[in-house]
Amino acid sequence: MAQPITLQDIYAARARIAGLARRTPLMPSPSLGRLLGGEVRLKLETMQDIGAFKIRGAANHILDLSPAERRRGVVTVSTGNHGRAVASAASASGVPAVVCLSRLAPAVKVAAIEALGAAVRIVGDSQDEAEVEALRLVADEDMVYVNPFDDPHVIAGQGTIGIELLEDFPALETAIVPLSGGGLIGGIALALKAAAPNVRVIGVSMQRGAAMIESLRAGRPTVVSELPTLADSLGGGIGLTNRYTFALVRDLVDATVQVSEAEISAAMRHAYREERLILEGGGAVGIAAVLAGRIADAGRTAIVLSGRNVDMELFTRIVTGDPSALPG
Ligand SMILES: *Cc1c(COP(=O)(O)O)cnc(C)c1O
Repeated sequence: MAQPITLQDIYAARARIAGLARRTPLMPSPSLGRLLGGEVRLKLETMQDIGAFKIRGAANHILDLSPAERRRGVVTVSTGNHGRAVASAASASGVPAVVCLSRLAPAVKVAAIEALGAAVRIVGDSQDEAEVEALRLVADEDMVYVNPFDDPHVIAGQGTIGIELLEDFPALETAIVPLSGGGLIGGIALALKAAAPNVRVIGVSMQRGAAMIESLRAGRPTVVSELPTLADSLGGGIGLTNRYTFALVRDLVDATVQVSEAEISAAMRHAYREERLILEGGGAVGIAAVLAGRIADAGRTAIVLSGRNVDMELFTRIVTGDPSALPG
């Protein structure tokens, strides 16, 4: 791993992002506690203004730019929660931001990112072509690239969740965290293992296209094919030149679990009916792992509910049990 990230970096992130990211509630879930045979609490990252935790990492990166970097501006390619987070943190701190999208990006997403104050640049017919344009802006126009997960500031920002978990639940024994590129779980595991080494950290991905879990099995960053999934915010690769998160997850995460599309939809339904929460698929995988009986001996448990940005027409079909809501 390149330059290590420390607990001190995570505390520094917490102070830096306090004006842009909320300290979110940790809500007890008696129904999941009964199922798991322990006390269960839910970390509501759904309550961030952008509807997902990614504001923590993006804000930590953007608020720590030098004056020269602020003038150069930031660029990213994500259409999802990271794109929203970068747009929102950049506009709140007066930094120009460009989000590169392909022609396939739905108009609603383009409008949402523009509404958050970022410039949208539409290029090519795929995410890859959009990425080429983003990297060109970095090379030719000297813009600062904000990687969605493999970046020390982003990891430290997401790690602030770990500090909050221990403050609100000092007896915590197990943390269950959604896993994609590994910035979220990497930061949380760093904070937890530094302050409370006995806490177990469990990562949860979907069965379809879990790049980090396949990479762990292969022993190195690996490409997986992307498949449609309800957990769309967990899709995408970890980068063949991964610098931070692969090693962090390999070294600090105790176990990983994978959940099916039916299990993710059951978890979204459970969260809505029993907890009165709207979750996107990626935000529901921790609950899915518990409901599916894949978590044993967890004891006092926190489940990170990472986001709520789901299309409401799809959400309605899922919570009413419409089988057409599952990807084929
Ligand atoms: C990005 C994201 C994740 C995964 O975070 P990584 O740092 O890529 O592992 C989980 N849930 C939601 C809602 C996300 O947007």
